[in-house]
Amino acid sequence: MNFPSPEGYTPILQQYLEQRAKTGDAILFFRLGDFYECFFSDAELIAKELEITLTSKGDSAHPGGKVPMAGIPVKSAENYISRLLKAGFKVAVCEQVGDATGKGPMKRELVRILTPGTLVESEFLEGEKANYLACIFPSNPNKTMSKQESELWGLAFVDISTAELKITEVPENQLLLELSRINPSELLFATIRIKDPERITIERKLCPAGLSESNYSSSTRAINHFDFNVSVDKIKERFGSHSLAGFGCAHFKAGLQALGGLLDYLEYTCNDSLKSLSSIQVYEVNDSLKLDEQSVRNLEIFETMQTRTKKGSLLGLFEENLTTKMGTRMMREWLSYPLLDVSQIRKRQQYIAKLIANQNLLNNLKVLLSQVTDLERLNIKLKTERLNPRELGWIKNTLLILPGLKALLQDIASTPNDEEQPDIFEIKLSNNLIFKAKELDLALQDELPIVSGDSGIFRKGYSEKLDQMKDLVDQNEVWLTNYEAKEKERTNCKFLKVCFNKAAGFYIELTKANKHLAPEDYKIKQNLTNVDRYITKELKDYESQFLLAEANLKSIEQELFIFLRESLSIYCEEIHALSKQIAKIDCFVSLASLAINHNYVAPNVDNSYNLSIKDGRHPVIENLLPKGHFVGNDLWLESRSEQQVIILTGPNMSGKSTFMKQIAILCLMAQIGSYVPAQSAQIGIVDRIFTRIGASDDLSQGQSTFMVEMTETAYLLNNLTERSLVLLDEIGRGTSTYDGVAIAWSVAEYLAKSGPRSIFATHYHEMNGLADIYSQVVNYQVSVHESTNELIFLHKVLPGGADKSYGIEVARMAGIPKEVLNRAQGIMAQMNAKNSTRKTTSIKDCAEQAKLELGI
Ligand code: ATP
Repeated sequence: MNFPSPEGYTPILQQYLEQRAKTGDAILFFRLGDFYECFFSDAELIAKELEITLTSKGDSAHPGGKVPMAGIPVKSAENYISRLLKAGFKVAVCEQVGDATGKGPMKRELVRILTPGTLVESEFLEGEKANYLACIFPSNPNKTMSKQESELWGLAFVDISTAELKITEVPENQLLLELSRINPSELLFATIRIKDPERITIERKLCPAGLSESNYSSSTRAINHFDFNVSVDKIKERFGSHSLAGFGCAHFKAGLQALGGLLDYLEYTCNDSLKSLSSIQVYEVNDSLKLDEQSVRNLEIFETMQTRTKKGSLLGLFEENLTTKMGTRMMREWLSYPLLDVSQIRKRQQYIAKLIANQNLLNNLKVLLSQVTDLERLNIKLKTERLNPRELGWIKNTLLILPGLKALLQDIASTPNDEEQPDIFEIKLSNNLIFKAKELDLALQDELPIVSGDSGIFRKGYSEKLDQMKDLVDQNEVWLTNYEAKEKERTNCKFLKVCFNKAAGFYIELTKANKHLAPEDYKIKQNLTNVDRYITKELKDYESQFLLAEANLKSIEQELFIFLRESLSIYCEEIHALSKQIAKIDCFVSLASLAINHNYVAPNVDNSYNLSIKDGRHPVIENLLPKGHFVGNDLWLESRSEQQVIILTGPNMSGKSTFMKQIAILCLMAQIGSYVPAQSAQIGIVDRIFTRIGASDDLSQGQSTFMVEMTETAYLLNNLTERSLVLLDEIGRGTSTYDGVAIAWSVAEYLAKSGPRSIFATHYHEMNGLADIYSQVVNYQVSVHESTNELIFLHKVLPGGADKSYGIEVARMAGIPKEVLNRAQGIMAQMNAKNSTRKTTSIKDCAEQAKLELGI
């Protein structure tokens, strides 16, 4: 995107080019009257993306004399901007400021740069999802790290629409995992200019190993925006603090640079929204259960693998009982950061237990919560003076519900000891805020406009001055009717009309045929084809009086609205805390309802290394099947015990993957504090869940199926601890049988020796031999019933190893042609006969036998 220098262009294009030079990779929407216009390559780009007409503007300075131009009407800009943002573009908006002076073009200023991670406008945001901008910065930007050294990365992220701001420092090998948990809409990092030996300046992007720019919509800024001292000063100034110690982040270096760079970028893109930020949360990545991106995908926590929709995922199940957008966002956070602290988990269980024990209250809570608006995001709009009258009404309505919510929860809220956290059911609502809400209720109409300054915000009686102005404006119709009657009589013309329109103002209209009836004092205003329009002194005076009243009405209403909005904004901190509390209550209501509806139990969560589940079920699949059809299964796994690694065999389609996924999901649910689908469960805290279930190519990254499989296996073997849960499905399937068995065997052996609770599902029945060698390994199988002409999947996990995979049976069910199936069966029979005489299960022998039979 190269733009010419402004010299020689018309004044308006000069102004455009000067502004465009500031917006970098953001398309500039340049306000010209009722349109936002784009020129040059921006025009070509938006014409193509938005499917709008590409026109041109004559300018002799441009080669060919015409500059490409495309524009969109201001009143429908939202829709177009949203389409561009969704397609990954950034949009800068340049507005007209001040009045036209007659000399030169109107003054224009850049007011906003819309980027995916800096959106505050509700029309561009998804209500159920936080919208994060994340920024990363390394501790050693100028040093190439050796393989032995590990880079520490500063990480700061913000959701400017809710004012959530967090900071941490992460070792490089955990950075990708942490970013995948945050799932930012935009990732910001630095570029650095390095002089190479030949004194040429090259630009290098500071992107950590393994992070490709395509993972997230990314933005880069020059490294000077991340200067340590500038960053520290910026943070102190922004939060009005002399020291960073109060925030608990004074010991960071790269973390503060990431935060400094982030704030600097926010100043550049959406300065007005920055004042919503009031605190920094410092956190440790090791404080919660970790799930890498692959496992999150495999377990279908936020979306399904196939359709990539929420429906059919774990969040989708929870969401059935979530009533507020704030609750859904909080549930996402809980699922991304499950707890490790047993006491916190038990506390959450207690809240759920209280709700389960009071089902009437639970139902009433649902009714109240369904009337709650997105208080959290609206509150940020309130704080940044962007809240419109209709939204003020929504906040007011929600605040009016809160005394009822407080009263409802009173009976189950316990009074905490001093050192304890406040009870989540104890609603902290000040009398002043309730009083303010009632005051707003007396002031505001039931139906409110979106635009402030539009009449119709206040109830009659709220302001005498406003009512007077309104009366005057409202009486306009009556005045006009009376005036018309009077003039009809005076002129003796029954076709005379007195009218008003925005363009012409007030006028008297006579047809050409009645022209001669116009009295002397009728001054001609407009001559049209069939009619003439006149004005009189009396009508002119009335018009001035009316227009003044109308303008006054708007400005008084606007003034009163701003006053009222400001009077509520002093409660922003309290409203913010309330919104967080409501979100949590919504999450507990959802978890309690799920537990009741689907018969879940409270797991016994402790710090042991034990995992004992009786009659566990997969919550999502159980919900999809007809009631009672899901077959529950038991499990016992314990580190350093005689059952630390399970080798799970069984036919295709029998339910091995489902069994493993359900175990991971039960642990995850238990550690967010939820009840679990089982008859009983003991969950010894898990620090990480590693899953490799179902292979997938990553051809876009230039990796084959087997390479992806091995990379993921390497990652988990290098990062597991004794507290981890490892669930592997068919490791070693993507290569030759010999290599595959060798890899599978040695991986399982490694797991047995290093202590994590593990399940290894496989079709290599040779793996059952591990149990004879290692006391901590046991064999289980998913059972089937084989009748003469069909295979019945029992989905029951039982002790003992399977020695058959029924692959040909499953192939038949999938519709493989009969001829192929018969041939496969023949080969299989021959191989079995040969093997049984030699009493060996050597895979090599089988393969060689098959080659012989096939004549290869
Ligand atoms: P493969 O070895 O081919 O990957 P698998 O053994 O992993 O197969 P799953 O994918 O887990 O099999 O299960 C296949 C189907 O069986 C599931 O989609 C589900 O509908 C059903 N199923 C699995 N487990 C159960 C269960 N416990 N109760 C009822 N249905 C089940």
